[in-house]
Amino acid sequence: MPKQREHCLFCQIAREGAYVHKAKGFVAINDINPQAPVHVLVIPEGHVDTFRAVGEFDAKESKRMLEFVAETAEKVGLTDYRVVVNVGPTAGQTVFHLHWHILGGGGDLAEVLGAVATAEAEL
Ligand code: AMP
Ligand code: ZN
Repeated sequence: MPKQREHCLFCQIAREGAYVHKAKGFVAINDINPQAPVHVLVIPEGHVDTFRAVGEFDAKESKRMLEFVAETAEKVGLTDYRVVVNVGPTAGQTVFHLHWHILGGGGDLAEVLGAVATAEAEL
């Protein structure tokens, strides 16, 4: 696992936040400015600036990180959701400690796509 940084917001949150889920090496918190009814951030305790440096986690940690994302979504009650990582400032990254957004709870995508298909068939 990469090392923690003393003056990084998400390193600090990983040490002492209010978690919705936690496992060895990873925490999940509610986003302070939610963009969906459920908006959770998965944060590895080890610091890397961006997803570009994900290779600093070893293969086992990377696998656990992905599993932890899926476990967290399940834990907060989501079956359908989006997983987003913003990579770099022009892609919307504002906190430079790797984190995964889990967004959901805004309705059933399959239902929406079904409605679109029905509408198209009626044209
Ligand atoms: P990004 O823009 O992809 O770097 O995502 C950073 C996210 O962190 C944004 O969605 C912010 O709303 C969220 N955020 C920033 N500070 C905090 C905080 N103290 N607690 C929870 N979420 C935060
Ligand atoms: Zn950090």
